[in-house]
Formats: sequence, structure tokens, C-alpha cells
Amino acid sequence: MFWNNVIINRPVMVQEKIVVNNRNIPEPMKREIRQRCGFGCVLCGSIIYDYDHMENDWADVREHVSNDITLLCPNHHREKTNNLISREQVVEANKKPFNIENGYSSPYSLNFSGGVAYVVIANNIFTNDSLLNIYGGQVNPFVIPILIDAVPVIAFKIEDEKLLLDITIVNEFNEPIFLVRDNQLVVNSEAWDVDMRGSSLIVREGHKKIVIEMEFCIPNKVIVKKAKIKFNGVVLDLKEDHYILNGKKSGVFSHNALSSLVGFSIGQTNRFPRGVIHIQKVKRCSNV
Ligand SMILES: [Zn+2]
Repeated sequence: MFWNNVIINRPVMVQEKIVVNNRNIPEPMKREIRQRCGFGCVLCGSIIYDYDHMENDWADVREHVSNDITLLCPNHHREKTNNLISREQVVEANKKPFNIENGYSSPYSLNFSGGVAYVVIANNIFTNDSLLNIYGGQVNPFVIPILIDAVPVIAFKIEDEKLLLDITIVNEFNEPIFLVRDNQLVVNSEAWDVDMRGSSLIVREGHKKIVIEMEFCIPNKVIVKKAKIKFNGVVLDLKEDHYILNGKKSGVFSHNALSSLVGFSIGQTNRFPRGVIHIQKVKRCSNV
């Protein structure tokens, strides 16, 4: 659908690893399992999943064997527990995980609703709340913290009384690794790591390299905790109180209680208003 011919280098787990006498699966092992399973249930591709010991339950053997652990969504996990799916069927699915076969995850529908949206990035609030908004008194149909070349990289829009989230996270070659379109969240199964835990999500492009870390606060708020956004040759690294544009410390990004519809606008804005921070001309990174 969104991507073809995406090639992202990451190690493929081949070696079996064993950890004993620790109830928690170690984080590196979890990540390897997520990568192997394409970040979703091996049967249906859902990004809401549990780590399942296929053959031997932890309580019986008190060890975690990496190649024996797979990802199952709550429905398929329950079916396995109730013997409505056999262990053999899960083992077979684990060899050909749903998302790896498709190249991307099954879409997950985020449950945003209402007419007022909030995006919080560091000390900044972006909202169409007429009480907070600097434009005052208007009900605006969008909230765009980051706009690059007239593309809302992170945005809420209000359409037909529905609150819809759009997020575009691409790699340095402008190939999508994580997308939200009209609340439908889809993950590239070849991403380095996409870790959805509860309502929090972290996308990494390498060890300790976080692309975006955010929390979905249903019904109407997203909190972005960390972000290093790449798009069309622009690299925008948002820190607690400043931002770094294409590797150069560029300015203060902290206006506290001041709220606005558009945060950053970089390049042309077309039909959208300019952001609080507007940078028309920016040198693009060459490898994009
Ligand atoms: Zn499933």
C-alpha cells in the first residue's frame, strides 16, 4: 500500500538465546522477537500483542528461549490458551508471520474523537481549543505541530465531526517506516524497531536511536516526548527547550502556555498558515 521496495538493514535473529530464572523477558530479546515477527501478531498482524511461549510456559521451565517466543494478539492468545488454535498452528504462523509476509502491519484504528485536539511537544501545546488558541474564538479544522513542504507530518484534522490523526515517519531515504492516516496506524514490518506498549509507542531506527516517542491519550490528545523527524531532506530534532535543524542548533522551542495551530512550518506552506517558527528556505540533506 504505502511502500514498495523498502530496504532497511537490520540484523535477523538466527541464533537461539536462552535466559533462565528471570520472569521478565530481557529487552534486547523482546526487540529481536518483535523484529522477527514484524511488530505484530503472527496470525493476524495486530500491533496489540503479548509475548507467547509457544511450546513451554515460563511457569513450567523457568527459562526464556528466544526462538520459542512469538507475538500473539489477545484474541489469538486466548484462542491458544483455550485450545481453539493448536500449538502447531501457532508454530507454523511463527515461521511466516503475517506482517512479514505483507511487508507492513495490519492497520490499527486509534480511537480519537471529539472536536478539540491537543498535541503536546515539550512545553508547547498545539490545539484548536478556542480558549487556549492565540487566534481566539475560532473553531479550526486542523492542528499541525509540524508542517514540512505543505505536508502535515504530525496533524489532527476534524472532518465530519470526526477527530483524525495523521503522522508520517520516514527514514533518511524518505521511505515510510510508520504511518497514521485518518487514525489508521500502520507499521513497516522491516523497520528497525516499533514498540507499542499500552498507549505508548516508540519508533527506533537503530540502537538508542529514537525517531519518535509518543503517547496516545484517548480521546483527543497526543504527547510527543521525543522526536527526530526526517522528511524531504529535512532533519528536525526537537529537544526539551530548543530544536536542531539539519544538525545545527537553531533556536528556542519553548513558548510555554502560548498555544497555536501550526508549530513548525518548513518550506512552502500552501493552503496552511505559517507556523510559530517558519523557515522558508532550508538546505536539504543530500541523501534524500
Ligand atoms: Zn491475532
